[in-house]
Amino acid sequence: MAVLVTGGAGFIGSHLVEALLKRGEEVWVIDNLSTGSLQNIQHLFCNPRFHFVEGDILDEQKLDEVMSYCCKVYHLAAAVGVRLVVQDPLRTLEINVRGTENVLRLALRYGCKVLLASTSEVYGKDVHDGQVKFSETDDITLGTALRWGYACSKAIDEYFARAYWRQKGLPVVIARIFNTVGPRQTPVYGMVVPRFVQQALMGEPITVYGDGKQVRSFCWVGDTVRALIGLMETPGLEGEVFNVGNDEPITIEELAYRVKEMTNSNSEIVYVPYEQAYGPDFEDIRYRVPDISKIRQAIGYQPTLDLNGILERVIEYERQRLLVLSR
Ligand code: UDP
Repeated sequence: MAVLVTGGAGFIGSHLVEALLKRGEEVWVIDNLSTGSLQNIQHLFCNPRFHFVEGDILDEQKLDEVMSYCCKVYHLAAAVGVRLVVQDPLRTLEINVRGTENVLRLALRYGCKVLLASTSEVYGKDVHDGQVKFSETDDITLGTALRWGYACSKAIDEYFARAYWRQKGLPVVIARIFNTVGPRQTPVYGMVVPRFVQQALMGEPITVYGDGKQVRSFCWVGDTVRALIGLMETPGLEGEVFNVGNDEPITIEELAYRVKEMTNSNSEIVYVPYEQAYGPDFEDIRYRVPDISKIRQAIGYQPTLDLNGILERVIEYERQRLLVLSR
């Protein structure tokens, strides 16, 4: 039986598909190519164990067909990127809630095990007022601004998944994915690392939003993928939630200076008010770093690359990409 990756043409999805093919799996991908792209997976079409269906997880018929071939589902398809979510909150809610419900219902029908890709956004506001890592047992605190609709939709996905496990016995594991970076992540949807690297390499201003004192930690996509496969393949984790990320913190301001230095860029570092970046009604999260002790204990997970190692690779990738574009 095959493995399905919903959203497999996306940034994390395409890396996951590569890793699954390397493990010898037969892999199906369903992706509506909204934020994913054929470019991310074009090198996989020559592999006879790789199958691609262009389609939406809201299209029940199409989803039903691909799921009928599979025994495991990595459910990554979702509306992603803060900028996109702020621009189109309605579609975000529809895809994340109805789409996930479709995946879980069909997984039960076909006896599939599910890995639900959730997000660190579900933690919501930084209620600890900085310096405390988010842990799986923390309460969720969402605000009234529309941006929190995304977090709310993914939180509903988690409750749905756990209810399916509790009431129907559907085997499902939940991964709360924190900021992840690596090749193929596009700056178009606002993600900070590819944006800063591209701005630095092109000599454009590096745009730090707000005062730049907000803290994040960035995980190498290869480490994220290893964690997802580990969570799927380790027995006994069903119904559980796990943080997936790297716990090395950095402020966004420091990140801007680090990228500028590592690229030898002449770019100016500028501070852009949140309102200008995202429109009114926006609240950022001041401190977001995962506690990764639970996943470490469950599957022996440990990130392999630190931030400098990650930035070196992303800078090299962007350099090559810009070189090809300039030809
Ligand atoms: N950010 C920034 N400049 C940019 C893009 C993002 O300062 O050009 C900030 C953003 O406001 C947030 C952090 O970088 O505080 C991480 O943003 P991203 O969208 O990558 O992920 P988030 O953690 O917000 O989901």
